[in-house]
Amino acid sequence: MKPVKRTALIILLFASLTFFVSLYFPVNRGRLSPSPFLSLRLVDRNNTLLREVLSDKGGHCRWACLEDISPHLIRATLASEDKHFYLHPGVNIFSIGRALLQNIKERRIVSGASTITQQLVRNIYWNRRNILSKAFEVWMALRLEHCITKEEILTQYLNRIFYGNQAYGIEAASSLYFDKQASDLSLAEAAFLAGLPRSPIELNPYRHFSRIKKRQTEILKKMYKFGSITELELERAVQEKICIVSEKEKFRAPHFCQFILQIMPSSERSKWSAIQTTLDYALQEKVEALVREHISSLKSRGISNASVIVLDNASSEILSMVGSNDFFDYDHSGQVNGTLSLRQPGSTLKPFTYGLAFERGMTAATILEDKEIHFKTPQGIYRPKNYDLKFHGPIRTRSALACSYNVPAVSVLHFIGSDLLYLRLKKLGFKSLEKNPSFYGIGLTLGNGEVSLLELVRAYSSLARGGIYLEENSILGFTNRNKKQSPPPERKDSQRVFSPQVAYILTHILFDADARIPSFGYNSPLGLPFSCAAKTGTSKDFRDNWTIGYTPRYTVGVWVGNFDGKPMEKVSGITGCGPLFRDIMLLLGKDGSGGRFGEPEGLVRVKICPLTGKRPTSSCPGIMEEIFIRGTEPHEFCDIHPRDKITAADEESIIHPGKYLQININFPGDGDIFKIDPVLPGEYQSIRLSASVAPNKEIKKIEWWINEELVSISTSPFSLSWQLEPGSYIIKAKIREGNKNIESHPVKITVLS
Ligand SMILES: [Zn+2]
Repeated sequence: MKPVKRTALIILLFASLTFFVSLYFPVNRGRLSPSPFLSLRLVDRNNTLLREVLSDKGGHCRWACLEDISPHLIRATLASEDKHFYLHPGVNIFSIGRALLQNIKERRIVSGASTITQQLVRNIYWNRRNILSKAFEVWMALRLEHCITKEEILTQYLNRIFYGNQAYGIEAASSLYFDKQASDLSLAEAAFLAGLPRSPIELNPYRHFSRIKKRQTEILKKMYKFGSITELELERAVQEKICIVSEKEKFRAPHFCQFILQIMPSSERSKWSAIQTTLDYALQEKVEALVREHISSLKSRGISNASVIVLDNASSEILSMVGSNDFFDYDHSGQVNGTLSLRQPGSTLKPFTYGLAFERGMTAATILEDKEIHFKTPQGIYRPKNYDLKFHGPIRTRSALACSYNVPAVSVLHFIGSDLLYLRLKKLGFKSLEKNPSFYGIGLTLGNGEVSLLELVRAYSSLARGGIYLEENSILGFTNRNKKQSPPPERKDSQRVFSPQVAYILTHILFDADARIPSFGYNSPLGLPFSCAAKTGTSKDFRDNWTIGYTPRYTVGVWVGNFDGKPMEKVSGITGCGPLFRDIMLLLGKDGSGGRFGEPEGLVRVKICPLTGKRPTSSCPGIMEEIFIRGTEPHEFCDIHPRDKITAADEESIIHPGKYLQININFPGDGDIFKIDPVLPGEYQSIRLSASVAPNKEIKKIEWWINEELVSISTSPFSLSWQLEPGSYIIKAKIREGNKNIESHPVKITVLS
């Protein structure tokens, strides 16, 4: 033998010996210990499970012993993945040879030919697809087979392999897809699951059921071929109906759960086994049902989505969050959480503009001009228009806000300065207004910035709390892996953003059903049988439609529209999300809405002339009461209704109304214009006339006269429901009792068709 050949032989022998000996190196047992139970449970405020969320690896895993796994599953897995498992030493020489040939032919790695042991090595140690890693895989597989038994290898494999949809291991997969333990799987179910590890994404049962069903049949046939099952068992299993647990049942409150996971860093998450959230799942289910019901009836108006938030005012806790009408509606981007998406808020920021104005001495009785005005802005001349494309002349601030007219709101902001509104909105938690204040300018009050529903709800709840801002809360507490409870993270302190008086006056206007009648009609969905302040908004080109409102106890925000930004077909806050808002409020109202809004100290109620907002003379029509921050109430008398008629007795009666008997029409106001809604049925298009008599102790009934005709006699509380018909009317209320014969000032109204 030549020396070169001999040296080569020695090296070969030595290498073979080293390789052989290396197979007996012990494997690191630590790597084989069962994976710790790392999944995290999100529960609602009453501990109802919302979702089991997964470990950092992205899955949940529950360890099962081989005895606790259905023998069907074991046999099906072997038939599917490695029929010679009990015969080979970790690698299958024949399949490797075949795969090698195929790889050389194709000049790339097309076939892995991996045994269960090799797949386990990839799962635990190294998962790459190149020649070096393949060699490592083979070496490690051989080592594993020397160090642990076949049963241990199989146990490790079945507990670690990925079954799709974030389920690692057979126990997690059985629970996810069939809601049962791995020991209880039927033959058909076992073959179904055994098919998944090959291609968990392409065979995803939720997306491609027919593919995995086909694969299941193939596995069953293989099992029959290898003698694991009889022909009868094969037939029965192929026929058996596979019922997988729907995704929806595993993903309760899906957008809310995602929101919780988003606000918690994953390093933080891994510390806990459970998070108790603020959500009320019983309420959430009902709100979700209402959203679905309303969206199905709005589909004809080109609306495919809606989002809702319900917040508890006292604690600022999120009780319900519906991100879209169907999380699983892939055609309409149902997975988008619409409560966090940024959109133009329409008129919903107007109340905050008026709040700033009230801080500067303006009152709800201040007269504003609703007419064509050209505002000079850095971007050029700005001519705001109203929603109804009309101007309404001089108007009290109360009506301007309640009816959501645009020109008065822009005028007020022009007077105050848009920077101040911008800064206040920031204090109210509108973090999304990221651009410079000058970017938005005075259009900010008409909603030219983009904000989220959550931000709007948060800001409105500050008004419900009497002007106190409190960041929303979504977590009540944590449980760590040793079952120890921990309190929620510290929250930022509450902060006053409006005085209690300003907040109350805004609330008072937003729940004044009478003030918004000229714009929204009498039977608008915003009218509820309990105190509820609300504001609607519609963005440019009818893309977004909002209703945000609150009772003393809850704040509710509703958005409807399309996630793709497609415009709706002429939908206003009243016809779009108004009815949904109303139904949610009625649902919440069953448990009590919190009674009446608490009126703070420092307010006065004063009678005013509705046309000038000043103290009324005896000839002012439809004298009404307005609420003022003490010191801002008017002192001058009305100057458009003849002062020369004022007698000492008149002034006396106005200032001390209790002294002389008088009758006033409180609603409608003189000059009010009503519009018949073409959509609403006729019987809903009525208004409630109301009058007051002072002092009224002795007066039992009053007469209603319309166009000099007696139409009805009403007893206390002196109101009358009156059906609207197009035309002009003069309404009077009269007292005719004994020798008393007193008439109210006439109120002239117009009803348009
Ligand atoms: Zn007057």
